Amino acid sequence: MSSYRAKVEADKKAGRQEADTFNARYPIGTPVVAYPGIRPEHPVAVAYRKRVEEGRTFGDADPCTRLETVTRTPAWILGHGDPVVSVEGYAGGICLSHVDIAPRTNTPDRTSVNDEGRTVTTIKLKRCCNGCGQYLGDADNRDVDAHGNLTDVRHECPNCRDLAEREAAS
Ligand SMILES: [Zn+2]
Repeated sequence: MSSYRAKVEADKKAGRQEADTFNARYPIGTPVVAYPGIRPEHPVAVAYRKRVEEGRTFGDADPCTRLETVTRTPAWILGHGDPVVSVEGYAGGICLSHVDIAPRTNTPDRTSVNDEGRTVTTIKLKRCCNGCGQYLGDADNRDVDAHGNLTDVRHECPNCRDLAEREAAS
């Protein structure tokens, strides 16, 4: 095998592994923040935000497009091994390195008194760690896979993260 072919094969293997890990953790519908162009850490995006603060944008558009959305496909790899995923509101795939998993919301219980003078508590369904039972925040699409099973969320849990990483590595 030529060294070029060998490199492409190695990149594909790494990319496939990254896509597989992503798909095992994040089912379709997982809330994400996607940057189809440059990421916010890119010097051009940083320079733009600085100009905004200083009031010197002169009508320039923000070079960093930020989409708060959800995934609409599993991740896959392109011909050279780059792992990508598609999101709602954008055509085509976006590199996984430009897709951040949205932090979980954590809506506190709300207590109110209704017209009849009764105290009513409104709660949002919460997700617990499947390793130790610790509350992780509001349940959302990331918690149920395509087969209706609860996903493994131990990587989100401060108690179970290390163990889950070691399991994944072995
Ligand atoms: Zn845990």
